[in-house]
Amino acid sequence: MPTSAPLRLLFATSEIAPWVKTGGLGDVAAALPEALHRSGMDVRVLVPAYPAMKAAFPLAHTLVGIAAPGGLLPPCRILEASAPSGLTIWLLDCPELFIRPGGPYQTPDGPDWPDNPLRFALLSRVAAILSSDASPLEWRPQIVHGNDWQTGLIPAYLHFMPGRRPRTVMTIHNLAFQGNFPQQWLSDLGLPWDAWHLEGAEFHGYLSFLKAGLYYCDRITTVSPTYAREICSDELGFGMAGLLQHRAPVLSGILNGIDDAVWNPADDSSLAAAYDGEHLEGKAANKAELQRLMGLAVTPEKPLLGVVSRLTHQKGLDWVAAVGEQLVQAGMQLAVLGSGDKGLQGAFSDLAQRYPDSVGVRIGYDEGLSHQIEAGADIFLMPSRFEPCGLNQMYSLRYGTPPLVRPTGGLADTVTDCNDATLANGSATGFVMPGADAEALLSTVYRAVARWRDKDGWRALQRNGMARDFSWTRAAQSYLALYRQLA
Ligand code: ADP
Repeated sequence: MPTSAPLRLLFATSEIAPWVKTGGLGDVAAALPEALHRSGMDVRVLVPAYPAMKAAFPLAHTLVGIAAPGGLLPPCRILEASAPSGLTIWLLDCPELFIRPGGPYQTPDGPDWPDNPLRFALLSRVAAILSSDASPLEWRPQIVHGNDWQTGLIPAYLHFMPGRRPRTVMTIHNLAFQGNFPQQWLSDLGLPWDAWHLEGAEFHGYLSFLKAGLYYCDRITTVSPTYAREICSDELGFGMAGLLQHRAPVLSGILNGIDDAVWNPADDSSLAAAYDGEHLEGKAANKAELQRLMGLAVTPEKPLLGVVSRLTHQKGLDWVAAVGEQLVQAGMQLAVLGSGDKGLQGAFSDLAQRYPDSVGVRIGYDEGLSHQIEAGADIFLMPSRFEPCGLNQMYSLRYGTPPLVRPTGGLADTVTDCNDATLANGSATGFVMPGADAEALLSTVYRAVARWRDKDGWRALQRNGMARDFSWTRAAQSYLALYRQLA
């Protein structure tokens, strides 16, 4: 007999949008717990009390104090706050570790905080305490859900704790980030030597937060079905393919959703004009606004390619920079928003300087401009070498800006290549590169622009993408089914 009591979930994360976000994880942590809360689950989100979190929740009150939990881990307390929806947020308050300038992982100058192992071991340790018999609270979760390496030690700590334990889920948002640190940290973080094992937290002589999580957890998910298969291969397994093959029976992929209230072209305060699939006229005003914002020639005649991204090798944007000049010569415009790799930043800035009418570049992070690019561009470029899920291609589908992608990870699961057959049967949504190099990018851009010139076909392509359901409601149902199975 199913019980009517709601399932209890502790969701631990190192970032949560809109307050603290470096990438897709922040978006997921904002949307998934909300969707689960709406579906009736009893959810607590545990996140460090960074300055931005304290500022966002000035009314948070002390729920409980936690004594120094072993090793060098300092004492801390939990502040309880409530999101507007009623979702409970627990802020892990430890000013010496979390009240700092800069990002969640890095100093204002860029390098990682040297005590990141301590900072995120505390997050993991506190999640483990709050889920076990060691908790000072009455509330205990049935499921603890960790995300990426920052919470990877949760299953490891729980494994070595006495008494009743919840079931554990680890989600890989990007296997490239593993949290591997020198062995000396093991005892500093209060982990027993039994964890220092090939079948445990050891990874090529390092203490690996992520590997510990993947080894000790009950279920592993990642953010798209294709990526779940790819990480079991040597090419995209980042050294962990063997472990993931071994754990394949408990590994699955659940495609992320997007926040369709925040990303809705019919109601988006960042846009110059509203539009939807039935009324696409507003897109022209958004293109003109984007051209104006980026200092480009304001004209509807030139195809405008958009990029919003971290500028890293992963994203394949070096191919875009390499053919930038050819794109300009062929009469296209390019609008790039992003930051990261200095070489790539330089390459795009250089293009913009040489061709100010055709190439606009904004180095930095700008939420409003990212919406305007999604709405104003004709084609969105996302030629990632690998992409666990990717959010931007889903935003661009929803904004009627067909994405150009490589067939990898979530891009393969969300974008259907446009050709005569897929356009005729209504499945076409974007453009898929046949290879992984600058030449494949260029030929696919030419192919996309040729389609763009056929206005009726293009509108059909736009509408196909805009009609796709990428809501969190769908994704949350899959997580809920998995939790139910586990609990
Ligand atoms: P990743 O998590 O690998 O960076 P995703 O596509 O999954 O890539 O998610 C990236 C998120 O970060 C999206 O919400 C995207 O809009 C946002 N983003 C990335 N770079 C910028 C930027 N420079 N300005 C604004 N938003 C950005």
